[in-house]
Order: sequence, then C-alpha cells, then structure tokens
Amino acid sequence: MDMERSSSTERFQPVTSVNSGDGIPLGEDLYSYTNQVVNVIFYGKPGIGNEWVLIDAGMPKSGGKIMEAAGARFGDNNPPKAIILTHAHFDHIGGLIDLLEIWDVPVYAHQLELPYITGKRDYPDPDVTVEGGLVAKMSKMFPHEAIDIGSRARELPSDGTVPHMTGWRWIHTPGHTEGHVSLFRESDGSLIAGDAFVTVKQDSLYKVMTQELEVSGPPVYLTPDWESAEQSVKTLAQLQPQAAITGHGVPATGEYLQNELAALAEHFREKAVPDHGKFVDGEK
Ligand SMILES: [Zn+2]
Ligand SMILES: [Zn+2]
Repeated sequence: MDMERSSSTERFQPVTSVNSGDGIPLGEDLYSYTNQVVNVIFYGKPGIGNEWVLIDAGMPKSGGKIMEAAGARFGDNNPPKAIILTHAHFDHIGGLIDLLEIWDVPVYAHQLELPYITGKRDYPDPDVTVEGGLVAKMSKMFPHEAIDIGSRARELPSDGTVPHMTGWRWIHTPGHTEGHVSLFRESDGSLIAGDAFVTVKQDSLYKVMTQELEVSGPPVYLTPDWESAEQSVKTLAQLQPQAAITGHGVPATGEYLQNELAALAEHFREKAVPDHGKFVDGEK
C-alpha cells in the first residue's frame, strides 16, 4: 500500500473496533451494525417508536443480536416496516428466519434473488480454488442452500422505488449475484452497496479481522460473473456517492470514497478480478 492511500485511510476511517457487535452511525438516519464482519443497516432516525427499515439480515444465528441492536435504537417490540435484501448470500440472510419468527414483515429483494429465499434455487458452490488464501478456503464451510421464507418474500417495485424508504431508489447491480441490488439516495449521495463492492479486502483474513478500510471489488470466492460485476461498479462510481455502507468493512465517505471507487471502476480487472496463482498463499 502506498503512503498516500494510507494517509487517506486514516483520515476517513470512522472510529471502530475489531469486536463484532458494534455499530457506526452515518448521517442522521443510517446506522451500520456489524456482527461477525458482516454489516446490516438500520435506516430511520433513532428514537423509541420511530419507523425504520432493516437492510440485510447478517450471519446465521445473528437474528437475536440484530433485534437487540435494533431495540436499542428504535425501542423494543418495534419491528421494521420491511426488510430489504441487497442479495441473498448466507451472510446477508443468516438472521432472517429467526427475525421473521418474531417480526411479521415483508422481505423485498430483486426478482432474480427471490428463488434463493423461497427454497427454489441454491447458489453455486463457492470457488475455493480462487486466490485469496484462508477466507476463500474457509468459504467452503459456508452454507449456500436456499432458505424458504414463503409468502413474506416480495419483489422490489419495478419502478425503482424502495418500500418505506422515501427518496431512495434501488439499482440492479448484478455480478456478485444475479439479482444483487444497491440502494441510493440522490439528495445526499448515500449509497448502500451490499457486496457490489466492499470497503475491506475480503481475500485477506488479516484485513477482514482488523476491518482496514480499502475500497475493493466484490468478495472473490462468491462472485461468478465478473463482466457484470465490473459494469455494476462503474454504474455505482458514476453516481459519485458521498457515503457508502457496504456489506463488509467500515463506511467510506467523501473524496476518498469517490476517488477509490472511480479507481476501482477504471482498473477493475487488476484490482478486483482474481488472477489465479498471483497471490495464492502469498498475502498476509
Ligand atoms: Zn455476497
Ligand atoms: Zn457478503
């Protein structure tokens, strides 16, 4: 890493800790809650009884923790108006079944993602042979079978609006998964990017553990379509977001975010697409 990047990294890195179970507020109505190196997002102004929306549902068995953190921000027994999924990978829907046992709420996802939450289709096995060391190797232990939430599953509105999130629109950002979406609010440039890109280098276990800020391509071991992934990053870079919360890593903001995202879009092949053998077992 060059000097310039490390100084930007320090400047924009929000206060955080390596412990899972922490949250980082972003603006007045966004909160990135981290559980086991995966982020779920609470949208809504904090306050007991306030309306809110949950974006993504974390790691398996994290439902209780998500509910606890939401209770602290919006009051107990105050379910979200809806749950929106950026995509249905196991680390973004892990808490869903448990949450839906308590919360009677709809779950919105892109039409192409619905088969994975209605028990109709499983994701392909992760590519454990891809470069990326331990995390990729570990990924074969991850579940990839579909869950089934039945009639709670809803398709995101075709007009691009996001239910219960006024001023936001969803953007189809395929590549990491076919039905991956990102959420964007034009008025202040807030972006919820799921795993279309992430802000931590997912193929380095060290960086995942320390959550070192680094705008990076989607997690390599679970991304089957790099052409679309590249196009999606270009689409998001063109939005020139002011702040981004991604599925993994700490939020990134301002010029740092815009510059790094533009660079990722421009040099996507070198920066994001795995090059077998290049870093295998090499990176710490
Ligand atoms: Zn994913
Ligand atoms: Zn993920």
